Amino acid sequence: MSVPQHTSDFLVKRFLNINRDLIREQIPLSDPATQRARDAKKKLLMKDAKKYLPYRLEYFAKLYGYSYEKCRLSHAATRWGSCSSNGTISLNIGLMQVPEILRDYVIIHELAHLNHMDHSSAFWQEVASHDPKYKEHRKRLKMFSPGI
Ligand SMILES: [Zn+2]
Repeated sequence: MSVPQHTSDFLVKRFLNINRDLIREQIPLSDPATQRARDAKKKLLMKDAKKYLPYRLEYFAKLYGYSYEKCRLSHAATRWGSCSSNGTISLNIGLMQVPEILRDYVIIHELAHLNHMDHSSAFWQEVASHDPKYKEHRKRLKMFSPGI
């Protein structure tokens, strides 16, 4: 990508994140090298995620007194995590690519959904009680995309 000389890294990264899907669409899906690279990356992320995310989730659940049913690892292109009404928490393996503090925010967010299945003010109050800077973390997370 070519940019004016004084464009900050921040802006370049933001542009790439916002336009990632668009850029990706321009890469032909049939390109086997691209597909292979993506598969390899996904495999690596999954390997890392397996060793980390379920334990991090367990850690925060114990710390704050939540009980969930099970942890699932996902690679959805649009969501960092989800929590189902039967207590299954899904975490995106793409979380392995974001700073730890943002990863922790997603985990806390999904745990809080065990008590509030919505984004009501009571929900956000609960998130804030475990992550007082959640607003900042939520905003920073928008700079990243869960897609691989
Ligand atoms: Zn939510």
